[in-house]
Amino acid sequence: MPLWFARGLRRGVVTTRYPARPDSSASHLPTPPAFRSGALTREVADGLVATCPSRALARDGGQLVFDVGACTACGRCQEHAPDAAISSGVFELAAATRTALVKRIPLKGEARP
Ligand code: SF4
Repeated sequence: MPLWFARGLRRGVVTTRYPARPDSSASHLPTPPAFRSGALTREVADGLVATCPSRALARDGGQLVFDVGACTACGRCQEHAPDAAISSGVFELAAATRTALVKRIPLKGEARP
């Protein structure tokens, strides 16, 4: 039985402090993608939207809308368009509001919002 579990039972504390540093295993975890605007044409964006099984991606005119909160980090978008979607390496996604997890990425050649 892990020591922290026994200590929690003894003290009646069910939470722990946020770790001071990421666990070493974190570098092996899959992370949500990051998107390269310069490689995102409308065709590529539509292909990414069709590829995403969790509906985390949508195209809104000249923007790719990425709902990080819906992403399962499955990696299918990166397999589909490796030039446009890369691993972000970020797995800590806490945000104060749900809308803060929705990113809008301008497509190549489209005006920025
Ligand atoms: S990693 Fe998977 S769930 Fe996340 S955006 Fe890409 S295809 Fe969608």
